[in-house]
Amino acid sequence: MRYCSRCIVPDTRPDVRFDAQDVCSACRAHDEKQHQVDWSARRQAFEALVDRVKRLKRRYDCLIPVSGGKDSTWQVVTCLQHGLHPLTVTWKPPAQTAIGAANLENLVSLGVDHLAFQINPQVEKKFLYQSLVRYGATAIPMHMAMFNIPLTLAAALDIPLLVWGENSADEYGGVGDESRGHRMDGRWLKRYGVTHGTTARDWISKELTEQELAPYFGPGDEALARKDIHAVFLGYYFNWDPVATYAVAAAHGFRARPEGPKVGYYPFADIDDEFISIHHYLKWYKFGFTRLFDNLSLEIRNGRMARDEAIALVRERGVEVPHEDIERFCAFTGMPTGRFFEIIERFRNPAVWTRRDGTWRIEGFLVPDWKWEEEVSRAAHTR
Ligand SMILES: [Zn+2]
Repeated sequence: MRYCSRCIVPDTRPDVRFDAQDVCSACRAHDEKQHQVDWSARRQAFEALVDRVKRLKRRYDCLIPVSGGKDSTWQVVTCLQHGLHPLTVTWKPPAQTAIGAANLENLVSLGVDHLAFQINPQVEKKFLYQSLVRYGATAIPMHMAMFNIPLTLAAALDIPLLVWGENSADEYGGVGDESRGHRMDGRWLKRYGVTHGTTARDWISKELTEQELAPYFGPGDEALARKDIHAVFLGYYFNWDPVATYAVAAAHGFRARPEGPKVGYYPFADIDDEFISIHHYLKWYKFGFTRLFDNLSLEIRNGRMARDEAIALVRERGVEVPHEDIERFCAFTGMPTGRFFEIIERFRNPAVWTRRDGTWRIEGFLVPDWKWEEEVSRAAHTR
């Protein structure tokens, strides 16, 4: 296991590359954003895009996919400030949190029309279970719905522009030029849409029919091209930083989680949906890192934290198994919690984990005196 010499990203993180100085591609991308990107030219490019869209004189200038999170509030505020008339669209998660719902209400009150799309929970339940069994993943249905429902609606309602928030491919160190920039299309979705490269078609089975999976199908690149619909990332035009977008959102009524972060380091991120913590937790089995690693790496890159402080925090916080959310997830999908841990154990990555003296451990882990015994007690707890 190798770690970036500047931040704490491990080389097991998907899409990350290390250079000869052992600096990760996310840190290099950050440097580039700070020193090489002409942000005023990017701002002008956004203004030109706004002008072009407004000249089309459609009912809605743009569609903004929103969750109620800090980034969606920032997207709405930025679009309104630029004089766009947006339609906002939410895919309603099966386990939406109260604070997520309240922040969504606040976002709508900023002065936008809003559509909430809820998927048949019986379909969600089956799809969630199957994605856990097939890929040890719980966020495939979420990402598929989140990305495709807005595209389908934009195509149906002739909305010429979709405005997304950050480009995760950029922020976490995309693999090269094809992932960079401002466009989001079918190719981006397949590669970076966190769907394990699958589309709705790959999930059609006896249990899940094509009609049941309807919300997860997008309109297709051809329809998007024919209707000349563009999907862009606001993070391409404006320098995205979670602390900065939070400040904008908070100034417009967005509230962080009063009891502190639900997962990771930020009390204002990952707070809309109860199941998101499970998605992040599964990275521990697959890649040997937690949400805290991502969040603290961003803090280091932005000069708000030293690397050794970050390591001390990881040590202090431990793995933080989201037991309550796992129980909720199991109740929703109808499986005993023991079964959940049995399934995810199959996805413990042998390239990351070794078993020594009856204990699972990661050789060369970031924190040298990590308490690996907890891996055992956790397993015992679930039997
Ligand atoms: Zn790094």
